Amino acid sequence: MLDHCPGAANLRTPTLTVRKCPQCGEEVEVFSSDVAVTCSRCGFVVYNDMESCIRWCRHAKECLGAETYGKLTRGKKP
Ligand SMILES: [Zn+2]
Repeated sequence: MLDHCPGAANLRTPTLTVRKCPQCGEEVEVFSSDVAVTCSRCGFVVYNDMESCIRWCRHAKECLGAETYGKLTRGKKP
């Protein structure tokens, strides 16, 4: 019934992405539902690009549900 943006679909069904820490090159496992993951080697905080979806998608709150939306936006200024 409802259409969801691709970004929200990824957040509803978390996928694992391996990213490289920009500081030390360590591989960091980032789930699509995570906002940020701390590098296990150097402690650098690797941010999840998926977070950007909720910044521009006006349907994000409806797509994700208030709980997930609140979790991803908690403590952030618009
Ligand atoms: Zn690192």
